[in-house]
Amino acid sequence: FNAALNDSTLFKFQGFINGEWVAADSGEEFDVINPANGECIAKVANLGASETQKAIVAAHEALEVWANITAKEKSIYLRKWYDLVIEHQNDLAHIMSLEQGKILSEALGEVIYGASYIEWFAEEAKRIYGDLLPSTTLNRRSLVMKQPIGVVAAITPWNFPTAMITRKVAPALAAGCAIVLKPAAETPLSALALAELAQRAGIPKGLFSVIPGTDAVAIGEQLTSHKLVKKVTFTGSTRVGKLLMAQSAQTVKRTSMELGGNAPVLVFSDADIDKAVEGTFAAKFRNAGQTCICANRLLVHASVYDEFVTKLTEKVSHFVLGNGMEASSTMGPLITNDAVENVSDLVADAVGKGATVNIGGAAREGEGYFYQPTVICGLDQTMRLSKEEVFGPVAPVFKFESDDEAIAMANDTEFGLAAYIFTNDQSRCWRVSERLEYGMVGVNETAISSEMIPFGGIKESGQGREGSKYGLDDYLETKYICLGNI
Ligand code: ADP
Repeated sequence: FNAALNDSTLFKFQGFINGEWVAADSGEEFDVINPANGECIAKVANLGASETQKAIVAAHEALEVWANITAKEKSIYLRKWYDLVIEHQNDLAHIMSLEQGKILSEALGEVIYGASYIEWFAEEAKRIYGDLLPSTTLNRRSLVMKQPIGVVAAITPWNFPTAMITRKVAPALAAGCAIVLKPAAETPLSALALAELAQRAGIPKGLFSVIPGTDAVAIGEQLTSHKLVKKVTFTGSTRVGKLLMAQSAQTVKRTSMELGGNAPVLVFSDADIDKAVEGTFAAKFRNAGQTCICANRLLVHASVYDEFVTKLTEKVSHFVLGNGMEASSTMGPLITNDAVENVSDLVADAVGKGATVNIGGAAREGEGYFYQPTVICGLDQTMRLSKEEVFGPVAPVFKFESDDEAIAMANDTEFGLAAYIFTNDQSRCWRVSERLEYGMVGVNETAISSEMIPFGGIKESGQGREGSKYGLDDYLETKYICLGNI
C-alpha cells in the first residue's frame, strides 16, 4: 500500500532504537491487519524485552545530549517535527485509516490534532520556570528549579494511533526527558512514521525510540521495572493501568494514567434539544464509538426523552458504514472481531433484560469488523450498558426525572473522565458541573479536547493531565536549593 503514499519512505516496518531501524532480535514479525477487510497490510518487527532494554539504555545516554541543548533549541527541534507532521498529514492519515479503520477525514483530523500537541509543547519548552521563595532567615535564599524526570516509558492504545503518542512524546522531550514508546500492536505504523519524522527533524538519537511488538507483557515488564526508567505514562484500559501502576511501585516510578471512561451526557428539560442531539451524536459516534471520552450513557429528562430519541435515531439512520478509505463512508469498522463481539454481548444483555433497539443492534454481515450504529432505549441499572464502557457505536438512552437523580446516575460509576451536560439554565450549569465527579465537563459542547486544555480523569479513570500548561508537570521534578550563609 505504500505506493499510494506521496512519500513511501514513511512506511516503516522495523523497530526504531537509538536512531536506527532494527529487526527483532528473534527475527520475528507480526501482521498488521486492516480492520475494514481483515487483510494484512504490513509485517512489522516483533520486538521484545531485550530490544526494550537497549532502547532504555540509549534513552538514558541521550539525556546527557539533550541536557546540553538549550530550551530554545529543543523548541526548534520540536517545531520542525510539527512542521513535518503537518507537511505529511495526508500520508499519515492514510496510514492511520488503513491500520485503524477510522474514516479518512477523521484520521486527518487526528493527525492535525496530534500535531497540535507537538506545536504546543515546542512553545512550552521555553516556559519551564523556577521560583525564588521568601526565606526564613536573612542570610539564605530558597530556590526552586524544575528538572526533567529522566527516562520515560510510554504505552499507548490503538484508538488514536497518533495523538496518544504526540501527547506524551512532545511534553517529555520539551521537559528534557527521553522516551521509549510501545505503541499498540494493532497500530504500530503511525507510531513508526512519527519516529521517522522526528528523526528527519534532527531530534538527537535515543531520545525517542519505538518498540513495536505483540508481547505487551514482556515489554511492559521491562518498561515498568528497569531502574533507569523514572516514569511510566499510559493510555489504555483501567485493568492494564492498575497492573502497570502496581509494577511501577516496586521502583517508585512516577506514573500518569489515562484510563477508561464511562461518560454520561445529561440532557435537561430546558436544553436546546437540537444542539443536544447534535453534540451527543458527535460525542457518541466519533471513531465508531471508540474513544475514552465517547458519550457512553445518555441520561435524558423524561419530558424531552421521546423528542431526543426520535431526533437522534433519525440522525443515526444516515450513517454509511464502510472502508475508511472510501469517500462515501461516514463510519469505519471496529478494531477487531473481539471488539464487535464485546459490543454484541452488551446489547444482547440489555435486550435480554427488556431494552428496545430503535435502530441498529447487530454486527454487519460480510467482511471487516463492522457494528451497526445503534440507539437503544428502555434501559435500567441492572443492564451492563449502565456500568460498562461500550467502545462501539451504541447509544444507550436512560430516562431521569430530577436533577438529583441524574447526578446520582452520572456519578454511579468508578470512572471519572468526561461528562457532558445540556441545559440553558445558568445556575444549573454551575450546580451540576460542580457536583459531577469528572476530570472534564462539557457544557452545551462535546468537542472539548485540544492541546490547550488539561485532559485527564479522576477516580479510576486515571491521574495526571495531558496538554495545557499543566501537561509539562508530569515530566518534571521539583528541586529545592537552599543557598545558606550568604
Ligand atoms: P485497549 O482496550 O485499548 O486495547 P489495553 O489496555 O489492553 O486497552 O491496551 C493499551 C495498551 O496497553 C496497548 O499498547 C497494549 O499492547 C498495552 N498492554 C496490554 N496489556 C499490557 C500489559 N500487561 N503490560 C503492558 N502493556 C500492556
